[in-house]
Amino acid sequence: MKPQLILLGAPGSGKGTQASRLVSELGYNHISTGELLRKEIKSGSELGQRVQGIMDAGKLVDDNTVLELLNANCDLSSNAYIFDGFPRNGEQSKLLDEVVIKEASSKAVYFEIDLDMLAARLTNRRTCSGCGEIYNLLSKAPKTEGVCDLCGSSLTQRKDDNEETVKTRLQVFKETIEPVLAHYESTGRLARVDASQAPDEVFKALRAITE
Ligand SMILES: [Zn+2]
Repeated sequence: MKPQLILLGAPGSGKGTQASRLVSELGYNHISTGELLRKEIKSGSELGQRVQGIMDAGKLVDDNTVLELLNANCDLSSNAYIFDGFPRNGEQSKLLDEVVIKEASSKAVYFEIDLDMLAARLTNRRTCSGCGEIYNLLSKAPKTEGVCDLCGSSLTQRKDDNEETVKTRLQVFKETIEPVLAHYESTGRLARVDASQAPDEVFKALRAITE
């Protein structure tokens, strides 16, 4: 069976695109904790009711509850999963091993990319207000400035893609990811992928990691 994959990468590193391909081409199951939370609440299970209570109180769902949720929804003995968005810090990476991954074969993949390059990518991102198509003024510019090639609607910039917000997000990411990388490095499970390459090249590297 393929190894369980823990995807680590800054916003804009292309992690989401690659996760979709791992699902469609290599048969991985994508685990999004946000989605699991919503599903569990909807199911009305005891755990779901507890999660609902935490959210109703305006609190963040704690790590132990997230781990319980993962265990309730993942069967690592017969499926290969992509963990994306959890762990976010060093403590969570240790907990994920202890409570969920245990003896299962697993690898962490870090989408390595220069943070200045990433900041440029993010601040140049534009989204179509009509069909949702995503453009990038650096690498995938629309034929006519400010207009969607596909549907002709106007392009907008997401509020959190402005320069100040992007800088802060990347700085926070850099500080919290270091202990996560150290954890997987020390257990011999860290693979680094050059995320500045074209998406096809990144996927080739990922495929090799899962073999
Ligand atoms: Zn459009």
